[in-house]
Amino acid sequence: MGTDGCRIRLADGRELIDGVASWWSCCHGYNHPHLIAAVRQQLEVMPHVMFGGLVHEPALRLGSRLCNLTGLDRVFFSDSGSVAVEVALKLALQYWRNVGQPARSRFACFSNGYHGDTIGAMSVSDPEQSMHRAFRDAVAQQYVFEIPAGNTELQALDTRLSEIGSQLAGMIIEPLVQCAGGMKFHSAETLRALQQLAHKHGLLFIADEIATGFGRTGTLLACQQADILPDILCLGKALTGGAIALGATIASGRIFDAFLDDREDRAFMHGPTFMANALACAAANASLDLFEEEPRIEQVIAIEAQLQTELAACQSIPGVIDVRVKGAIGVVELSSDKMDTDSFRQKFVNRGVWIRPLGNVVYLMPPFIIDQCDLRKLTESVVSVLKE
Ligand SMILES: *Cc1c(COP(=O)(O)O)cnc(C)c1O
Repeated sequence: MGTDGCRIRLADGRELIDGVASWWSCCHGYNHPHLIAAVRQQLEVMPHVMFGGLVHEPALRLGSRLCNLTGLDRVFFSDSGSVAVEVALKLALQYWRNVGQPARSRFACFSNGYHGDTIGAMSVSDPEQSMHRAFRDAVAQQYVFEIPAGNTELQALDTRLSEIGSQLAGMIIEPLVQCAGGMKFHSAETLRALQQLAHKHGLLFIADEIATGFGRTGTLLACQQADILPDILCLGKALTGGAIALGATIASGRIFDAFLDDREDRAFMHGPTFMANALACAAANASLDLFEEEPRIEQVIAIEAQLQTELAACQSIPGVIDVRVKGAIGVVELSSDKMDTDSFRQKFVNRGVWIRPLGNVVYLMPPFIIDQCDLRKLTESVVSVLKE
């Protein structure tokens, strides 16, 4: 098996055009020479060294670049998106302990949200989600809300937060697009209103941009479309251009200051063995170079326009209840939630494309470097498989 550009080559020699970008991470396509060169060079100098008591140049450089890009102040590196979320939750909980408000120990989160597969991340994901449902009673109980559809719902949430806000450490959300929970969109206005509500009730606002970060919705961060700065931001997936696992949790100076103390019990006690892995940091730095040097955001805007035009044909197919596009995310939602995912996948593979439906949605989230012709092959495959 091998990969190159937008293609996955199977062991039997067949080639598939990738519509999933390896769970949305492989934004520059596979085997980008700049990424490969950076990782290879780092491999020869130092693949890894512990990040306790020692720091290294690739991590320091990446940390300052991420702060510049996000407008936040302090970065904590971990080894996956789920751990980046765990770190965000733990930071929020300990922040309130350190500032003398330990009663703030729960989180507000949203239906259809997905924040990872570890226990803490599961607790703030949609409790009815198929992958987490069986553990509903075993994880911490959080407050799960519908994303407000309008002003009435926002006011209802405001009222509810007046009642329970003093128990809440933070609010966590996937900005603009809830991905794994069904590719559900909400508006930038709603996102901004939610941040305002969180702050009104004293909650830290945690943006999980593990899926939406790095251009996927048409701006480098989805939060930028709502013109908001979260208190804590989680990044992962495309952070390394999809080459190696890396998570980052980025916080404002206000949060950092609550931990900065000589007393050990106020420090943030978290240290994954492979935190800030040097190969992963080298890949992430190379990925950021590519965002600077190549027209990624323009490519996303072009993908958005093409998806809009070409997926529109799905609207009239029986069983399709919605077609929506945001940045390089194209979604066709079906009425049935009993889709035979395996047979769909097989039909797509037979057409030479890699598309993997999620629940009742068929979606495209290709690498940003995909050309018009390959993208047309993806959209045509969606249209014809759905027509069958
Ligand atoms: C994928 C994802 C995660 C989990 O990241 P992993 O690297 O798979 O642990 C968390 N939050 C969101 C929004 C994601 O899409």
